[in-house]
Parts: sequence; structure tokens; C-alpha cells
Amino acid sequence: MLKFENQAHVPSYYAATANDRTCHQPLDASVSADVCVIGGGLTGLSTALNLAERGYSVVLLEASKIGWGASGRNGGQLIAGYSCDIDTFSSCMPEEDVRRIWAMGLESVELVKERVAKHRIDCDLTLGYLTAANKPRHVDALRAWREAAESRFGYQGYRYVERDEMRQVVASDRYLGGLHYDGSGHLHPLNYTLGLARAARDAGVSIHEDTSAQAIGKTAQGHRVTSARGQLDARYVVLAGNAYLGRLAPALARKIMPVATYLIATEPLGEARASDTMPTDAAISDCNAALDYFRLTKDRRMLWGGKASSSTRTPRELAAAMRRDMLKTFPQLADAKIDYAWGGFVDATMNRAPHFGRLEPTVYFAQGFSGHGVNVTGLAGRLIAEAIDAQAARFDLFGKIRHRDFPGGRLLRSPMLMLAMTWHRMMDAF
Ligand SMILES: Cc1cc2nc3c(=O)[nH]c(=O)nc-3n(C[C@H](O)[C@H](O)[C@H](O)COP(=O)(O)OP(=O)(O)OC[C@H]3O[C@@H](n4cnc5c(N)ncnc54)[C@H](O)[C@@H]3O)c2cc1C
Repeated sequence: MLKFENQAHVPSYYAATANDRTCHQPLDASVSADVCVIGGGLTGLSTALNLAERGYSVVLLEASKIGWGASGRNGGQLIAGYSCDIDTFSSCMPEEDVRRIWAMGLESVELVKERVAKHRIDCDLTLGYLTAANKPRHVDALRAWREAAESRFGYQGYRYVERDEMRQVVASDRYLGGLHYDGSGHLHPLNYTLGLARAARDAGVSIHEDTSAQAIGKTAQGHRVTSARGQLDARYVVLAGNAYLGRLAPALARKIMPVATYLIATEPLGEARASDTMPTDAAISDCNAALDYFRLTKDRRMLWGGKASSSTRTPRELAAAMRRDMLKTFPQLADAKIDYAWGGFVDATMNRAPHFGRLEPTVYFAQGFSGHGVNVTGLAGRLIAEAIDAQAARFDLFGKIRHRDFPGGRLLRSPMLMLAMTWHRMMDAF
């Protein structure tokens, strides 16, 4: 069981360099709103912000701190597209819809860039990303991917980097080539999440930290979400607790495998050594199933991630184990001290495609980004807001009609109805 309520951020490089320490009071009253968003990570905040921009009143409940979950501790790799192969979509929908999903995979990255620019989010956004081949079959797969992107979707943004060019991107002999994409990159995920929270607040979203949604019940108008000290009535509920949502929605938890993965950050390497190691400052992931992913931070540390595991138990001597992995790629960093080590749970679905939907007509969810949450969460927020807005816009037309109560309750209602019908029949007679 993943336990998380009322906790501070994990001690990480990100928590140590967070640039917004705003605290949000727990919910301790009965309130109402158009929408209740449960979960203060990138999915919840993106949804809340999109809805507030469309004029909805939104209350967001976060069991711990904003960005406490995967959003505030991930590798910060902003990678266009999805974690699954595109054929995962082809097996479920016509080619026309596959093309739309492909286009949304590119849109998801542009959306992050737009948000960062529009809200002036200080999160070290840096462009440049490379998928590195560890084995000859990865070389073939990456070349095939680039060719398919071009022939099937007319997309020319990928550049294949040959083995002899790889050292211009990463100072290691470990990789056989790679696929480079200028439009993807990396960022400081906690500061990005905190920046979205600020933008959501500014747009009118009420945020409550240390407020775990414990139950969701029904009311005449919609839903009642209860927490330890408060309750919230809302027409719509958005479940954005992802791998940490747990028992609140068992039907969703069943679709997610929380895969543990870990990160270390070295001491600052200094400008010269950092750019010798990663000359283009691109983010890199390799092609192994239990992949390694790494990049430089703004203050020139090596941020190294990996050791994916289905066990919820943190490996013994985590920092030392991660360092050993890092040295397989960068033996030249043997003398670099490790300043931080931490981990979290990636929200993986069985087929690695994101899992969006409704549990009932007015209860939405998005989860299962499977390692592409930095980009796809923004798309999820946009799509949920669009869906609620479309649903509400049609439904609310009828809500605008004022209906008066019949006087006198149920006993008087029948005689009143008889009187009204007699009146109308009389009018028909003339
Ligand atoms: C170590 C690590 C590295 C990763 N690296 C990358 C990467 O480099 N690139 C990438 O794209 N993706 C990466 N990911 C995945 C990515 O971080 C996630 O997909 C994404 O952050 C999910 O965002 P979210 O808002 O859906 O969930 P989360 O960020 O996990 O947020 C869910 C929030 O909901 C809250 N919550 C849960 N239940 C309740 C409740 N009942 N009431 C109130 N609040 C509740 C939790 O406290 C939590 O804060 C990584 C993940 C991890 C853990």
C-alpha cells in the first residue's frame, strides 16, 4: 500500500531548489464548486487551470503537498508522444484517429512550452532530447521509428545520430546511435508543477493541501467529496491521484502498476566538466525496458535515473547502487559526490498507453502516463476541461430556465394541476 497523506516533499534535489514555498490551508468547511479536482500533481493542476480559464469554479484537494507525487520528483524529461508503440492505438481505432492521437502527442509538448511562457514559470526548460540505442536491435528500431514517423505521419522532426557522432551529444562509448528531437527536452518538474499551481491560483482555483479526499457520495446536484475536516459539493469530480489514488477508486487502481524508479543528483560538476560530459545539454533515455535516463541540471549536476522495479521496497544503499549504474556510462564521474537520492512510482498501464475516461458521466479521470507524464498530463488537463465544457454547455442551457416550486407541497400539487389544466381547456374552447 502506498501511503502518502500529510507528508512533506521527498528530500530531493528538486525539493532543495523549489522556488515557491506557498502553503495552502487544508479544507475545514463545507464548500461548493462546479468541479472538485482530487490530486495536486500535473494532471490535477492542468485540469484545474484549464477549467478555471473557461470560467468554472474549481476546488483542488491534495492529500499532501502540491507536487508531492510523481510530478514533483520525476526525471524532468519532456518527451513528445507516448510511452507505447503507435500500433497500440492502431489495434483499437481507425487510421484517421491514430493520426489525431499522434498529433496530440506533439501538441502535448507544445502545450508545456506555452504554459511555461504564458505564466513565466521558472523551471529551467531546456530543449533537446535523444533516445540512445544500447543494442543493434535498438538501432534498427529507432531507424524504423524515424522512417515511420515520416512516411506515415509526414513528420520530419527526428534526426538519426550515427555512432561516430554520439560523442557530440554524450561523452560515453556505451551507445550505438540515437534518435534526436529538438522539440523535446527537460525541465525542473517540481518548479514546473509549482508554477502551474500559481497560475491556477491566479485563475481562481482554490487549493487545499493536507486534504485527502476520503469518500465520494451522491447529492441531488452531483457529488459530495468528504475529507477529515470538510466537505465539497460539486457537479463534476476529476480523479487525478494516479498511482497514489489507491482505495478511493479501486476500479482505477486495478489498471495501474506503480513501478518504482530512482534518481540521484551529483554535486555540481562545474561548467567545463558538465559540457564535456553532455555537450548539447540534451536529455537522454536509453532503450532498455528498465531504462536509464539522465541529463544535466541548471546548476550543472548530473541527474541520473533508473533502477525501475515492481517492488515497492527501496533498494539498499540506493545512492551507491545508482552511482554504480551511472559509472557504467560515465566512468569519468567516479570522483563526483552524490548529493541527493530519491525515488517514486511511475504510473504504468499494462500496454503503456495513457488511461483516460469517465467512471460515470460526471466523474472523469486520467492516469497511466507510463513515463510520459511530464507532457501528456497537460494534454489530459486540456481534454478533460474540453469534455466537461462541452457536456456542461449543452446541459446548462436547460439549467438556465427558472422553475418555480408548486406552493403547498405534494398535497396541494394535484388540485393546482387540475386548476391549471381546466384553465387551459377553457382557453382552448374560445
Ligand atoms: C521517479 C520518477 C521519474 C519519472 N520520470 C519521468 C520523466 O522523466 N518524464 C516523464 O514524462 N514522466 C516521468 N515520470 C512520470 C510522471 O512523473 C507522472 O506520469 C506524472 O507526474 C503524473 O502526474 P499526476 O498528476 O497524474 O500524478 P502525481 O504527480 O502522482 O499526483 C497525484 C497526486 O494526487 C494526490 N492524491 C492521491 N490520492 C488523493 C486523495 N484521495 N485525495 C487528495 N489527493 C490525493 C497525491 O498526493 C499526489 O500528489 C516519472 C515518475 C517518477 C516517479
